[in-house]
Amino acid sequence: MDKRRQRYLKHTPSVIFAGATALLVIALTSLPYARADQVATRLAVVPAWSIRWQPARLVNGAPVLFRVKPPTLVKSLNGTWLGHDLSFTFEPSTRTWFALAGISLETKPGTYSLTLTAESEKGMPVLSVKRIRVAAGKYHTIALLIPKKFTEPNAAQLEAINQGKSLKDKAFLQSGAQREWSGGFLPPVNAPVSDVFGTRRTFNAAVQSVHKGLDYAVPAGTPVFAVNSGTVILAHPLFFEGNCVVLDHGQGLLTLYLHLSEITVKEGDHIARGQQIGISGATGRATGAHLHVAVRWQGVYLNPATLFSLHLPRT
Ligand SMILES: [Zn+2]
Repeated sequence: MDKRRQRYLKHTPSVIFAGATALLVIALTSLPYARADQVATRLAVVPAWSIRWQPARLVNGAPVLFRVKPPTLVKSLNGTWLGHDLSFTFEPSTRTWFALAGISLETKPGTYSLTLTAESEKGMPVLSVKRIRVAAGKYHTIALLIPKKFTEPNAAQLEAINQGKSLKDKAFLQSGAQREWSGGFLPPVNAPVSDVFGTRRTFNAAVQSVHKGLDYAVPAGTPVFAVNSGTVILAHPLFFEGNCVVLDHGQGLLTLYLHLSEITVKEGDHIARGQQIGISGATGRATGAHLHVAVRWQGVYLNPATLFSLHLPRT
């Protein structure tokens, strides 16, 4: 190769770069203002994700329904929220994807990420992250007096407590991958609420716990109904809970019915929304006849009253 050719090659990249820069400058400076406006308009109409939730104001202890519309048609949609995996379902009538989730009582006020991962019709990943504000829920403290065996159990009672705990723990692992609930959740009885969710309780001025359910003031003998469709995964007497029914609504969502005088279903039964599951009573650690209902989602107890107020898809 001769010297001229070598020199040409050595200078080629910078010559091309300088030439391209000059062309770009000419192109930009020759753009009329109208063109710049059109570029801005085109950017503004790029389809965005629509991400909404219910209730509008989120607090610790609340269940939440996420509704998502990705910018393009997608085959599947999954998410993560506060360390939990979410599996979204498509609702054809609204062309949105929905998932029921929650916020633990222990979650501090702050802003948290909802991370969404979809797969487009062409098999491409489509991602989005939404920052969502969680405020502090207002919960109060009350003092209760209960029999000593519930705060200072003897050896035999401890044995019964541990047995109950292991039965519950086993049941909690059985939640199915498929969603069984459909439509809104209904209160299990038609009665006034005697204690709300999230109340901090002191028992006999010593033991402290947080009330992780909702109490209804019902006399013993009142029929108790399933808040939504599900499968019975526990129907058994337990030390604290008394006669207890646990329904699995799928995807980690359970409802618990405590202190029943009678259980009218058995494990494995498929229950329809509004079907009777038992009769109210005062069994277990109860200060009197009442119904305690609890909502558990992926290991976290949520406010049942908020769940009953959500408008949920019937898909
Ligand atoms: Zn209760």
